[in-house]
Amino acid sequence: MRICGSGNLAFAAYVWAMTLHIPFDNTYAALPPVFYTKQAPVPVKAPELLAYNAALGAELGIVPGEASGEAADQAEQAELAEIFAGNHVPEGSDPLAQLYAGHQFGNYNPQLGDGRAILLGEVVGTGGQRRDIQLKGSGRTPYSRGGDGRAWLGPVLREYVVSEAMHSLGISTTRALAAVATGELVWREQGGLPGAVLTRVASSHLRVGTFQIFAARGEQAALRQLTEYAIQRHYPEADGPMGLLRAVRDRQSELIAAWMSVGFIHGVMNTDNSSISGETIDYGPCAFMDVYHPSTVFSSIDRMGRYAYSNQPDIGVWNLAQLATALIQGSEDPQAMVEEATEIVHAMPALTEAAWLRRFGAKIGIAEATREDMPLITDLMQRMAAGQADFTNTFRALVDAVDSDAASARAQFLDPEAFESWATDWRARLEREADPAAVMAAANPVYIPRNHRIEAMIEAAVAGDMAPFERLNAVLSDPFTVQPDAEDLRRPPAKHEVVAATFCGT
Ligand code: AMP
Ligand code: MG
Repeated sequence: MRICGSGNLAFAAYVWAMTLHIPFDNTYAALPPVFYTKQAPVPVKAPELLAYNAALGAELGIVPGEASGEAADQAEQAELAEIFAGNHVPEGSDPLAQLYAGHQFGNYNPQLGDGRAILLGEVVGTGGQRRDIQLKGSGRTPYSRGGDGRAWLGPVLREYVVSEAMHSLGISTTRALAAVATGELVWREQGGLPGAVLTRVASSHLRVGTFQIFAARGEQAALRQLTEYAIQRHYPEADGPMGLLRAVRDRQSELIAAWMSVGFIHGVMNTDNSSISGETIDYGPCAFMDVYHPSTVFSSIDRMGRYAYSNQPDIGVWNLAQLATALIQGSEDPQAMVEEATEIVHAMPALTEAAWLRRFGAKIGIAEATREDMPLITDLMQRMAAGQADFTNTFRALVDAVDSDAASARAQFLDPEAFESWATDWRARLEREADPAAVMAAANPVYIPRNHRIEAMIEAAVAGDMAPFERLNAVLSDPFTVQPDAEDLRRPPAKHEVVAATFCGT
C-alpha cells in the first residue's frame, strides 16, 4: 500500500482503516510494455470528495466497508477522496498511462498518449462487463509534452454531468464515477483555477489512435496483438481485423445518429477521441444545441467548423477510414485487404442514415420510418433552422401537438405559421401510426444539459456551492419525464445567458 498526502495524523488514521475494496482484474497491464508506461498517479495536496456515483460504484462491484454511523461515513468519504485523487493506489491496481497517436483536426500527430490520465485498472462488474477505471487530471506522465497533467474543476464537472446525462438519455458513453477537488491551483488562460480529478469508467480506452501509432511506426507485431486484444475484449464474434472494422463501423454509425437525435455536438472528433467500443469519449468542448442550426459549432478551437453538428456523420466515416488504414498495415498482404476495407468504410454513410432515419422518425411519431418519410423530417428541420426553433423543446412539444395542444410547438418558431403548414402533412402521416405520442415521448427528452446551465453550475461550484451540480445530475437522470420542479431547466438561455463558445477540457 502506497500512502501519500498531507501527512496529517488524523488523516493517516483514515488511511490505515481503509476498507473499500475494488475487485481489479487487469488485462491491459498484462500486455507488453510497448502499449503503455507504468506509473502511479501524482498525489495532490488536499483531496476532497465532491461527487461519488454510488450506483455506478455498486455496478462495478466496489464494496464499501461494513461499519456504519457518521464516523464511518466520514472515513469512507475520506477514503474515496484518497483513492480517486490518486493519493492512495488501491490494492489490485496496476496503474499506467496508455500510448496512442491520432489525427487532430485532420493532421496526424505521431504521438499523444495519456498526458493527464492514469488507468488504475479494470473491473468486471455485476453485468459481467469488463470496464476501465481511469483518473483524469492525475498529473504528468511521459506523454504530457508541455502540459501540467492536471484538470480544473470546470471541465471535470462538465464531463461528469454531461456523460451521466448522456447515459440517462440511453446513448453509449463513458461514465463518471467520482470527482475530487485537489486543493491545488491549476494555471490556465483565465488564471489560477481550482484543480480536480475525474474518475472515468469506460468499456475500454482503446481509440482509433491506439491502432494508428503502431501502424505508423511499422510495429506490426504490436498492431496484431492490439487487434486481437480489441476483438477479444469488445467483439469476440468478429472475424479478424476486417470483422473488427465492421463492428466498430456499426457501433460508431449508431452512436453518431444518437448524438444527432439529441442535438449533441462532440466538438473534438479527432481519431484519438474516437472509441473502438463505440462509446462517446473525451468530453471537451462538447455541447447540446439550443436553437437548431445544422452548422452549429461551439468549440473555441474548431475555427473551420470541421466538427460542426451536421458534419459529424462524415467525420465518423473519415475516422473509420483511418482505422481501416491502420488495420491494413497489420496484414501479411495489405493489398488483399484494401478492397474489403474500402467496401466496409463506404457502407458507413448508409448505415448512419438508416440509424438517423429510425431515430428522427420516432422523434416525429413514426415508429418505423422509411425513406419516404425523409422529406417530412427534413422539411421540419429546415423550418426549425429558419424559424430559430429550440431543438429539444420543439421535438418535445410535438408530443402535445399531435392531438391536443399545438400552442407550445407553434411558439418555438419565429413564424408560427411555418409550423402549422408543416403540421398539416404531419398529422395526415400520423393517421397510419398506432400511438405516435408514446413513440415521441420516448424519443424526445424534456431535459438536456444546456450549456448555460452547465456554465452556471461550474461558477457555483468554483464558489463552493455544489447544489446546482447535484440538482442538474438529479433532474438529468430522468430526462424523458416531466418533473414538476424543474420547469426552469427546460428553458433555453436568455440572450445574455447564451454561451457562444466552449473550451477544451484542459
Ligand atoms: P484531449 O483534449 O483530452 O483529447 O487531449 C489531447 C491530448 O493532449 C492527449 O494526449 C492528452 O493527454 C493531452 N493533454 C490534454 N491536456 C493536458 C494537460 N493539461 N497536461 C498534459 N497533457 C494534456
Ligand atoms: Mg482525448
